[in-house]
Amino acid sequence: VKRVLTILATVAALAACGGAPRYVGAPTDHFDGEAFHNVPEVREPSFWDLLTWQLDGKEIPWPEDRRYPPPVVPTARSNELIVTQVNHATMLIQIGNVNILTDPVWSEHIGPVSFAGPKRARPPGIRFEDLPHIDLVLISHNHHDHCDAPTLRRLEQVHHPMFVGGLGSRALFASFEIDADRTVEMDWWSQRTFKGLMLGFAPAQHWSARSIGDRNHTLWGGFYLRSATQSVFFAGDSGFGTHFSNIRAHWGAPTVALLPIGAYSPEWFMHAHHMSPDEAVRAHQALGAAQSYGTHWGTFDLSNEGQYEPAAKLRAALRARGIADVKFVALDNGERGTQAGQTK
Ligand SMILES: [Zn+2]
Repeated sequence: VKRVLTILATVAALAACGGAPRYVGAPTDHFDGEAFHNVPEVREPSFWDLLTWQLDGKEIPWPEDRRYPPPVVPTARSNELIVTQVNHATMLIQIGNVNILTDPVWSEHIGPVSFAGPKRARPPGIRFEDLPHIDLVLISHNHHDHCDAPTLRRLEQVHHPMFVGGLGSRALFASFEIDADRTVEMDWWSQRTFKGLMLGFAPAQHWSARSIGDRNHTLWGGFYLRSATQSVFFAGDSGFGTHFSNIRAHWGAPTVALLPIGAYSPEWFMHAHHMSPDEAVRAHQALGAAQSYGTHWGTFDLSNEGQYEPAAKLRAALRARGIADVKFVALDNGERGTQAGQTK
């Protein structure tokens, strides 16, 4: 019943909020002139599927968790690749002396209003005040757990970074009062140069919406970054699909891949848009990544699985596929890694 009340409260809040602006442009193989779609298309769960899941009573509660590591203070700059897990899909990527944040969320709650919506179970692994100067913010898609308006406004005020998202994002960034001179939107397979890095926008198998009636009005995806010597691929939020091998064919095997491993249960509902840990291992293999790190787990309770289940299932999936567990690590908030594996 609590969940039904949450749904009703969320629907009421969403109805009161403006949705994401609609992208306007010529049709492509993933845009029909009105909305974006996956390639190949996947069956989208219906509202009744959503209600069936919410009422299934199978959610594993997250206990009060006090096991998280203390927040870390990152280095100011690094030429060699360092990734630090902040929380959920928020990662600090340092490569080629450029500081990059993915899907930054520092809010207590995620959602269209600040006081409702899922509450964080653990603090961020880096305090906002301890961030090094941020040059670039990458937004994989506009869901509230990846595109958090209060955090983006704060980054704009403190760091004045470049903000990059999929097609349709510039109008959304403008609604957060971000200077239009520092916003960029990209189509799948497009690439550009930023401070000596190659930045590519890659497909993901997902969807977008911030409110009711704005489904798939802006494009979702992942980001590929390459310096002179290293590369890192951030998958955003994605189900498993052929796009991972296509990305390897297009830009090469990444040195490091950042792959979502949580929010997969129940699989009948989540499968189209979120990977299980085993599917994330298959993505790691399809990409040919030298090293991978698991994201999108442990901070926001969005699905049925327990808080630490994704990390445990990742280790089991690696064992079953004969891969050393140091090659794909579920980083905890505040933990970091390089191309050689997790570091202290
Ligand atoms: Zn999402």
